[in-house]
Amino acid sequence: MEEKFNCKKCKTVIGGHNQYLHDGMCDDCFFAEYFPEDAQVFAFENPNL
Ligand SMILES: [Zn+2]
Repeated sequence: MEEKFNCKKCKTVIGGHNQYLHDGMCDDCFFAEYFPEDAQVFAFENPNL
């Protein structure tokens, strides 16, 4: 079983990949934090997040 964690910003469930490689944030928060100019594109591709 993959380990489960919670995003440190929005508390959504994330996996070990995000916990260790995305600074403890879900993809949405990670890209918003590090690539703010791409955040709107990412959100558009994931409207349910
Ligand atoms: Zn998040």
